[in-house]
Amino acid sequence: MTWPEVRDAAKAGRIILIPMAAIEQHGYHLPVDMDNLACFHVCREAAKRRPDLLLNTPLLPYGFNEHNMEFPGTVSIRMDIFVEYLFDVARSYSRMGFKRIMLVNGHGSNQMLSNLAARRVVNETDSIALSLPYWALNADKFNTQLRESATPGGTAHACEYETSVYLAIKPEAVDMTKAVKEMSPNWSKKIWCDLTAGSSDVHFVDNYSRYNRSGVEGDPLRATASKGRKIISWVLDGMIELAEDFKKAPIKPRRNYQHRAR
Ligand SMILES: [Zn+2]
Repeated sequence: MTWPEVRDAAKAGRIILIPMAAIEQHGYHLPVDMDNLACFHVCREAAKRRPDLLLNTPLLPYGFNEHNMEFPGTVSIRMDIFVEYLFDVARSYSRMGFKRIMLVNGHGSNQMLSNLAARRVVNETDSIALSLPYWALNADKFNTQLRESATPGGTAHACEYETSVYLAIKPEAVDMTKAVKEMSPNWSKKIWCDLTAGSSDVHFVDNYSRYNRSGVEGDPLRATASKGRKIISWVLDGMIELAEDFKKAPIKPRRNYQHRAR
């Protein structure tokens, strides 16, 4: 796009999709760009399907990754720098006149930081922003119709879900002969990790190298390209549905009740 085209897209009220992910180890069988490939793919395809509604930006390729730094191939951005950087990108789109911004995350540990950046957009600009991981869009369909790995913990990292998505987008880069099953630890009723099973509301992320050898958390042996194609299609449907709802969210003027006579 040229700058006048960007100006017109803002005027037309298109929602900005900002994809962010990571360069991070994903076991023996998946390349380290897993999260980037998937997150950018779903944002670009959603925007291609609905150019009247959505406009995707370039990808933010590095994320917050301290828990995985004992594995080669992982890059980590410090948490405060990540929030600042993401906020600056989002604020720039706000300054262009885009009123609604969706921060779409492809890497688990970015989520809490992306949520903070979305809050800052609302607090500090005239635009509104929401933040979500792409796998949360229609995760229930995956869990009920495709999932074969154990719940929770079978679908956490380089797992049935992620490997299926990679196989659907770029199968030539996946080496399934090297895939191993290593389940995410399920310490207790409340302490576990799983991409699509929702959340136990307890946040606890230990350093991976303390308990993990392969870099996998889950069961990639259950992954197939056809599962990946279904996952992607459900994610795109969910993204468009969410954007249509977000477009309806009113942006009303703020009212100041401080120091005001009743
Ligand atoms: Zn991943």
